[in-house]
Amino acid sequence: MFDRISIRYKLIVLLGLSAALALLISSVITIYSIYLSESRASLRVLHQLTDVISENMRAALAFGDAQSASTMLASLRADAHVRLALVSDEAGQPLAEYRALGLPGALGDRLLADVQARMQDSADVLRRPGGSVEQTDNDFMGVLRPVFFEGAPIGVLAVVSDTGVMWAKIRELVLLQVATSVVTLVLLLFLSVKLQSLFTRPIMELVEAMEDVAQTKNYRAVLAAARRDEFGTLHGGFNAMLAEIRERDDLLSRLATTDALTGLANRRHAMDALQTMLARAQRKGDPVGIIMLDIDAFKAVNDRYGHPAGDRVIQEVARVLQANAREYDVVARLGGEEFLVACDGGTQEATVTMAERIRTGVEACRIQDSADTSLHVTVSLGVHSAVPQCAQEDIEQMIRAADQALYRAKEAGRNRYVVA
Ligand code: GH3
Ligand code: MG
Ligand code: MG
Repeated sequence: MFDRISIRYKLIVLLGLSAALALLISSVITIYSIYLSESRASLRVLHQLTDVISENMRAALAFGDAQSASTMLASLRADAHVRLALVSDEAGQPLAEYRALGLPGALGDRLLADVQARMQDSADVLRRPGGSVEQTDNDFMGVLRPVFFEGAPIGVLAVVSDTGVMWAKIRELVLLQVATSVVTLVLLLFLSVKLQSLFTRPIMELVEAMEDVAQTKNYRAVLAAARRDEFGTLHGGFNAMLAEIRERDDLLSRLATTDALTGLANRRHAMDALQTMLARAQRKGDPVGIIMLDIDAFKAVNDRYGHPAGDRVIQEVARVLQANAREYDVVARLGGEEFLVACDGGTQEATVTMAERIRTGVEACRIQDSADTSLHVTVSLGVHSAVPQCAQEDIEQMIRAADQALYRAKEAGRNRYVVA
């Protein structure tokens, strides 16, 4: 499923998930540290309160004055969060207690019982100077501390408050933290939507270029490779690959259409080009001139000077043919030492002129053989010119006519042209 989603969306999801995870972890840590610091702060306040009261409570405890102990505890009413306070004497007997207004009786009893149990459990700690006991749960927190008179413990003071302030503060900070996280996440998602294109654009460009090349087979397309990162290397590699395919394409089509020895068109390519030429000439009612050419007594050249010299002769004849042809004529080596020239718009007169120019051109050539002597050859030519009526049939007819004329030129003694 995941592999069907575009890389663009994958990147956004990945960036979004990483941001969300990072925010979640940091939020959990922050919220926990808020809880710790707030509960410590609340306990500190409670400690300060018991400090003040225990200082004032000394005389009342020393004289067992329950009345003034109660009055002192009653002053705790000023703090709405203090729910319960208790003063006990040395023997653990309660001297005075305070319950906040509105504290349910049962809850008050339970809290009182908890405090008394704690006083007994921690009796040792609560006799030491500076010793104190703290207790916290979800709803309440309490501090117990000894009261000293002339260096000796004479009782214990306990103050219990609810955790309302702490939780209110924690709620406020957690809300702030969550809001900040949500805003940050939205911002990060927005940024990742914008920034993903930094990574995906070059990949998309590559994909588009590949699809384009696959569809159009146009290997001339190139990608901008100005980047200096890995994408630049990738684009450069893609361009290099296209260039190589292009080169091979060119080479293949050159190999498929040209004759290796002379570089002229080969037979198959000549027939294709001739067909196009005849079709156009037929449409326009123009003539086409055909010259068939064969080197005279070529076997003897091979026999006397060797095959490589024979090859040079063939190349030289090809050069003369090309020098005399115009750009839009078709010049081809049909095989062995036989050539064809097709002249677009070639009237009989023009074709004959060209044939004669070729004949004299070859005749005038001096070809170096391997033994530093020169040789020369002559050619025979068959000439035919006509306005084609039907392209496909006329190719064969016209070639045959020119070929027959060539045969007659051979018979008539070679080194000449004959018109069909
Ligand atoms: P003609 O005047 O009647 O044309 O006599 P010819 O000796 O030229 O006879 P023909 O046209 O039959 O000779 C063809 C010779 O061309 C035979 C073959 O050895 C030679 N030949 C064909 N292809 C090549 C080639 O690529 N290189 C060389 N050196 N010789 C070739
Ligand atoms: Mg021949
Ligand atoms: Mg020949």
